[in-house]
Amino acid sequence: MPGIHLETSLSDISGITTGFLKRLERLGIRTIHDLLWHFPVRYEDFSEISKISDVIPGQLVTIRGTIESADIRQAWKRRMTIIEAVIKDDSGSIKATWFNQPYLLQTLKPGRIANFSGKVAVNSSEIYLRHPAHEFIGRAGKATTHTGRLVPIYPETRGLTSRGIRFLIHPILTNLEEIEEWVPEETLRVHSLPTVRAALWSIHFPQELSDADDARRRFTFENLFLLQLVNIRRKQKLAEKNASIIKLPISELRRMVDKLPFKLTFSQKRSLWEILKDMEKSKPMNRLLQGDVGSGKTVVAALAAFAAAGSGYQTAIMAPTEILASQHFATLQKTLYHIELVKKPTIGILTGSIARIVYGDDLATDVSKKAFAEKSRDGAIDIIIGTHALISGTGKKKIFKKLGLVVIDEQHRFGVNQRKALITRTFTDSTQTDTEKSSSDTKEALVYEEITYKIRGAVFEVKKRLGLGHKENIYQKALEKEFKKVGLAIEKEKAMPISYDNEKIGVYRPDFLIEHKIILEIKALPSVGKFEKAQIWHYLKGSSYRLALLVNFGRNDVEIKRIINGFQSPVESVSSPSSSVYVPHFLSMSATPIPRTFMLTIFGDLDVSLITELPVGRKRVETRIVPPHERDRAYEFIRVSVKTGRQVFVICPRIDKTQTLTDATRTNTDTAYPSDKRAGNFMENLLPRESVFSPRQSAAFDVKSVTEEYEKLSKHIFPEFKVAMLHGQLKAKEKQDIMEKFRLGNTQILVSTSVIEVGVDVPNATIMMIEGSERFGLAQIYQFRGRVGRGEHQSYCFLFTDSESASTRARLKAILEAKNGFELAELDLKIRGPGEFLGEAQSGFPDSAMSGLQDLKLVVETKREASAILEVDPKLEDHPLLLARLDMYRQNLHLE
Ligand code: ADP
Ligand code: MG
Repeated sequence: MPGIHLETSLSDISGITTGFLKRLERLGIRTIHDLLWHFPVRYEDFSEISKISDVIPGQLVTIRGTIESADIRQAWKRRMTIIEAVIKDDSGSIKATWFNQPYLLQTLKPGRIANFSGKVAVNSSEIYLRHPAHEFIGRAGKATTHTGRLVPIYPETRGLTSRGIRFLIHPILTNLEEIEEWVPEETLRVHSLPTVRAALWSIHFPQELSDADDARRRFTFENLFLLQLVNIRRKQKLAEKNASIIKLPISELRRMVDKLPFKLTFSQKRSLWEILKDMEKSKPMNRLLQGDVGSGKTVVAALAAFAAAGSGYQTAIMAPTEILASQHFATLQKTLYHIELVKKPTIGILTGSIARIVYGDDLATDVSKKAFAEKSRDGAIDIIIGTHALISGTGKKKIFKKLGLVVIDEQHRFGVNQRKALITRTFTDSTQTDTEKSSSDTKEALVYEEITYKIRGAVFEVKKRLGLGHKENIYQKALEKEFKKVGLAIEKEKAMPISYDNEKIGVYRPDFLIEHKIILEIKALPSVGKFEKAQIWHYLKGSSYRLALLVNFGRNDVEIKRIINGFQSPVESVSSPSSSVYVPHFLSMSATPIPRTFMLTIFGDLDVSLITELPVGRKRVETRIVPPHERDRAYEFIRVSVKTGRQVFVICPRIDKTQTLTDATRTNTDTAYPSDKRAGNFMENLLPRESVFSPRQSAAFDVKSVTEEYEKLSKHIFPEFKVAMLHGQLKAKEKQDIMEKFRLGNTQILVSTSVIEVGVDVPNATIMMIEGSERFGLAQIYQFRGRVGRGEHQSYCFLFTDSESASTRARLKAILEAKNGFELAELDLKIRGPGEFLGEAQSGFPDSAMSGLQDLKLVVETKREASAILEVDPKLEDHPLLLARLDMYRQNLHLE
């Protein structure tokens, strides 16, 4: 297997069956790189070879001996075959058995010498080796892969054994072309890390377990290091952009704050000050305002929006749901209209079903969406509150005149894409850079277009003739003929030097180069995605060509993807305005406590303001853990409270009985817009979800569901009260109505999944009852609890649990003792690991980086290292390999 490099597709390696390829594909493994980065989960130690006479039942052993005999017989009980071999060494002999592997008989020939690794079992009469792995010993001293050493055990899928993977990896590692190290030598040295090649060897085939540990440490380090680089560079890039300078209307602000119906808390004041200071600068703010639900973030944002309006700039406030948007709309009016001003700011709300404007006179006017957009575009609305509809609901045109500040509430529900869309909506009409093209460019573009057109024609001709489902090389040959027929000049597998900043770093051989201009890469994968594109983009970027086409003869159809070599990576080029354009200041608001390691990595590009105290007068919420036998008492307590006029939230882990786990996770869309599933959108998963149980717990089918609890409570337990239910499968409008009724006190008990609006303010609700509380994260429960205790009445939080386990109790107890949400977030991280935090996002996030997120020391070290490198080489011009690696990493992380 000569000439194998990391980008080589496994389908190009001879000897791997299509079945095997398919199974690898299921694990997301398509290239050599994917395969080599598929790390073992553990190792089995077969490094000692035992004498046959020494083995004892129960042991895992490796023996080495000659096969004396091998026979097959039928087991009577079931239709099963058993192979029995006798193996002999100097000390004695032992039987080995295998079930249902008749084909082994072909290889287990008497006389051959082999290692056998496996467990020593015992039956009534004798001891034997059960299902041992075996490996024939050829030349003396030849290194073994499966036996007689530390043997890697891989995460497996059906029909793909660790043995199979080992068989593949060993020769590949042996034949792999030199990998140039991308982590700077100095960094490796200072942190005592092995090189990538050494680390690959020792993570798959360690001599000692400590080698594997070192290798793992290297990959963890590398991942965090890259993550840090991405974030620091993102921060730097943003700092290169311009933002509007917001002059502070100091005296008006002061008057406004003084006259509020309440006194701002110290940390509200401090946060507001930090925000205003940022907005005064000509560089865009990128700040996170973090504080518990009800700590008064919206009020702070309202004052910042007021400052922006004073300077003639608009503010967009994005809320994840219509309910929250409406609530913000009310809070803003309350906060900004209570004093007389020369000109009160105009406030508007735009959601899926509402378009309403208040002109400072407390008189809200409903308008059409179109009229709303027009008014906003004219600059007639100072503060625009909206849901996702603000981005998608009113066409593609620009809807702001002078957007100075963007506030995103619970920003984790908004992805990077949506932020970009918002910026685009601001600037689409005002940027000319893309449309002003010189005529020579236009001519050039036409040539490209014409060639592309011919290529497409040829591709579809081939598809028509051959159909789908063939191997890559079949299509390659057919296309070659077809290209010739239509008269396109082609070069096959032309060697193209790839260089970055004049330094040659490799050679790329695309399937075709067409008309000396366009690179064509052919695949026959079930489907292609960002990874294939990223790969080609890389070559393209290092080459002098401008366009590549990726043609995939996929499972259902032919896909043709265009990859363009601009000056930026495709990730950054998506609608990000050039530096001459103004970008708005950004403020994210979140009630989700974020562990420190996350703050220093994934959110590393944000500055943070913390609201650490709740407004005075909030009462401590009494919290109890309620075991099954106290359930009735809790119900009685609730009955008495409701009779005296209070209201109750009941939270259940799932919607209905039949909801499967995957369905449950999929319903994570209790928002006015589809949730953004991209990996870049980590924060989304920090939010409460309708299902949070891990597969481990899924066996329990008695998990409380909203529909069942609703039935039970409304019919049997509290027939005298009005009970309502709320969950993500209801329509936005229905949810709104239910929530509104509850807020007005028309219903007394609201049974809901965990996605009920995090920020809703219902001061009269005093009891938060959580079913199956052991299924939620601690920080999440903490947030639920924050929804009560907002009024004058003493409030309560009941954590129901049927779990008998002492550790579950201990975990829940932490909530009773924790000082704040951060403490609980840290604890969650420790107990449940980063995966629970990242949720689905982890698919784009390598395991080794995941474990790194638990290691504060390593996080700090990598951050320091990344800063140090960027300090001396801000654009990584002196580190081309690192830069290339970084681009690849980034594209994997932020799937475009
Ligand atoms: P958050 O956005 O952090 O969840 P809000 O800003 O919506 O919190 O505030 C929740 C409620 O508390 C609002 O009704 C608001 O008017 C009120 N509030 C905000 N700050 C204070 C304060 N310092 N003292 C008393 N009440 C406050
Ligand atoms: Mg809020």
